[in-house]
Amino acid sequence: METKNILIENGTLITPIETGFIKTIKNASLLIENDKIAEISNTNKISKNGVDEVIDANEKIIMPSIINTHTHVSMSLLRGLADDLELNSWLNDYIWPMEAKLDNEITYYGALLSHIEMIKSGTTTFNDMYFFMEDVANATIDSGIRACLSHGMIDFGDEEKRKNEIKKSLELLKYCKGKDRLRGFLGPHSPITVSEELLLESRKIANKYGVGLHIHVNETKKEVDDILNTKNMRSFQYLENIGFLGEDVIAAHCVWLSDEEIDIIKAHDIKVSYNPSSNMKLSSGIAPIHKLLDKKVLISLGTDGSASNNNLDMFEEIKIASLLQKVHTLNPKVLNANESFKLITINGAKALGLDNEIGSIEIGKKADIILIDTFSPNLTPNTNSLISHLIYSGNGSNVDTTICNGEVLMENKQLKVLNEKDIIEKANSINQKLKVTI
Ligand SMILES: [Zn+2]
Repeated sequence: METKNILIENGTLITPIETGFIKTIKNASLLIENDKIAEISNTNKISKNGVDEVIDANEKIIMPSIINTHTHVSMSLLRGLADDLELNSWLNDYIWPMEAKLDNEITYYGALLSHIEMIKSGTTTFNDMYFFMEDVANATIDSGIRACLSHGMIDFGDEEKRKNEIKKSLELLKYCKGKDRLRGFLGPHSPITVSEELLLESRKIANKYGVGLHIHVNETKKEVDDILNTKNMRSFQYLENIGFLGEDVIAAHCVWLSDEEIDIIKAHDIKVSYNPSSNMKLSSGIAPIHKLLDKKVLISLGTDGSASNNNLDMFEEIKIASLLQKVHTLNPKVLNANESFKLITINGAKALGLDNEIGSIEIGKKADIILIDTFSPNLTPNTNSLISHLIYSGNGSNVDTTICNGEVLMENKQLKVLNEKDIIEKANSINQKLKVTI
């Protein structure tokens, strides 16, 4: 895919900065040279010399692209096939039987469908754990976005399975190596679906290759009870005891946490991915994000898969994320708009170890940028509280332009990559094949 020099001018730039604050620049212009941000001006005075394309950002917000730190993109094809169910029945009666029918092609098209949805709603980086991950990698290459990918390893204590899962994970790491927008991660599924041996082997491989570890922890109360019954301790105590934890661990959900576990999370600098819609829809519970924030744990945001959300709109997700904490604590100050803005940008980048490259708009960083059209009824009046508009009033359809790695993937709400019509038609035909009836 070709890259070029792009000048974005006349916009209002909003970005997190290193001090932890958020900076707003009016009349901002910005120069992208190939894949990187080369110049930022607050006086709209960047020379047009050598520029291939000028994008007028008048009445638009220029902000970093959004980062989704926990999802399973190929699950888009299971959307709407299993709703209003308890987690056990959801998994055993519907999701697992449908997943048994997955293959390379299905997974590839499921990923592409999600990639279109993400590009249109402003997300250009996602952290994914699933199966047939080389096909998810291929879809990511084709769509032009960025991903950290892990093969979801499950062994239930079976040695043969363990060896096979490790083999697949190593193959994926090799496949992603050297590919510009891809990072391979390790994905031991959860402390209850994975043996101690597999957790330890994952830790060893992560250390050897310097890759992240993506795991589900304490999503449901049942999971905590199961660990207590088998290990006589809670999940994070168990993970700490066996030496699995480290700052490279990104733990999804973390709904059921004791105060001791919160201390363990802080002590090991674990990155927590908060997934409120999925936790609400499967009635798993409410993650104690307010307590984690008090301890200065790094929180980012994930949608989880589209079978339990049921979409990938991170604007919708961040609004729910904030409101849920407010009603849970009866404190409207919890997870305010500024903090929420960081969850979907710089915190996501830090969680994935990519904050040198993405998560904010700074010279030298990758040009992962979106424009939000503020000339929209739900973002009017045009006050000074644009961050409030983004978090509480915005939605994915306010995204006007999406750029990843210096490449314009959508402009004026028109996709520049992928054939949307073909992919939607293909997804509809696959969806019919996956249905299960009980
Ligand atoms: Zn998940």
